[in-house]
Amino acid sequence: DNYRQVHKMSVIVLGTVALDTLKTPQGKRKDILGGSAVHFSMAARFFTEVNLVAVVGNDFPRRYLDFLNRKDIGLDSLMITRGKTFRWAGEYRGSQNKAITLKTQLGVLTSFRPQINESQRWMKYVFLANLDPEIQRSLLDQMRAPKLVGLDSMDYWMRHKRRSLLRVLKGVDVYTANETEALELSGESNLINAARSLRRIGPAIIIIKKGEHGVLFYSDQFVFSLPAYPVENLIDPTGAGDSFAGGFMGYLAKVDRLSPKDIKRAIAYGVVTASFNVTGFGPEAISKVSLKQIDKRLLQLSKIVTF
Ligand code: AMP
Repeated sequence: DNYRQVHKMSVIVLGTVALDTLKTPQGKRKDILGGSAVHFSMAARFFTEVNLVAVVGNDFPRRYLDFLNRKDIGLDSLMITRGKTFRWAGEYRGSQNKAITLKTQLGVLTSFRPQINESQRWMKYVFLANLDPEIQRSLLDQMRAPKLVGLDSMDYWMRHKRRSLLRVLKGVDVYTANETEALELSGESNLINAARSLRRIGPAIIIIKKGEHGVLFYSDQFVFSLPAYPVENLIDPTGAGDSFAGGFMGYLAKVDRLSPKDIKRAIAYGVVTASFNVTGFGPEAISKVSLKQIDKRLLQLSKIVTF
C-alpha cells in the first residue's frame, strides 16, 4: 500500500539508451547520448518522477550516466552489462521528417531482460518506448496495476518482429506511431483509416505523429489534431517522437486524470517538449529548458490554434 501511495505520480519508461551517430543538414555528431528512453525521460522529467529501464554496455561513457543523474532521471533499473551499448546511425535529408537508418547495432540489447524493483511494479503510467517488442512485453508482464500503458515502435521491429509487436499491442492503451509506421503496420493508405485499423488491434488511443505537420489523435470518443510548434532553428529531429511521448505521458501522470480536456492538454505539452528537443543535437537543447519556458510556449501554441 505504501508503494501505491508513493508512486502515484511516477512514470516508468522502458526503451533504449543509445550511442547515436547523426547526420543532419545542420551538422554531424558521433556516438552522442541518445535512445528512445533517454529522449522520453528528458521530456517527462518536467512533470513527474521518471524511472528509466534500459541496458547499456561497459563501454558506455560515465559522463552520460552523470548527466542523466543530474537531470533527476531514476536509474535504479538501468543495467550495465559486459558488451557493447546499442548504437544507431541515422541521417536526415530535405524536410527532415523521417530518419534514414544507416546502421543498427543491437549489442547488449540482444540478451536484455528488464528487471525492475517491487516499488516500480506498482507504477501506474508505463511507457514502452521503441525497443524489441518481446522485451516490451516482458516489462508489461511485470507491472501489477498499470493505469495507462503507451507504446512506440519502429519499422525495424515491424519488419523483424511483426507478430510479437501485434501481440504486445493488445495490452496497450496508447499507440504512438509516425505517419509511415502507421501506414506500414495497418496496410492502409490514408491516416484516418490507418488509425481506425490500428485501433482494432487493441489500443483505445492512436496517436499519429506527422513531424513538422503535427499530430493526429484518434479514439472512439473523439478525434483531435494539433500542428507542430513552428520552430525556426531545427537542428536534429532525432527523438522528437519520444520527446512528444514524454511530455504527453508525463503530464497525464502529473494530473492523474484522463478526461478529453486533460488528454488534449497532454498532447499540447507533447508538441511543445518535442519542439524544444529538435533545436539541438541529442538531448542537448531540451536539457537546458525550464518548465517556465515550456508553459510559455504552450500559451503561444494555444494562440496559434485558436480562432
Ligand atoms: P525517434 O526520432 O523519436 O524515432 O527516436 C530516435 C531514437 O531511437 C534514437 O536516439 C535511437 O537511438 C533510437 N533507435 C533507433 N533505432 C532503434 C531501434 N530499432 N530500437 C530502439 N531504439 C532505436
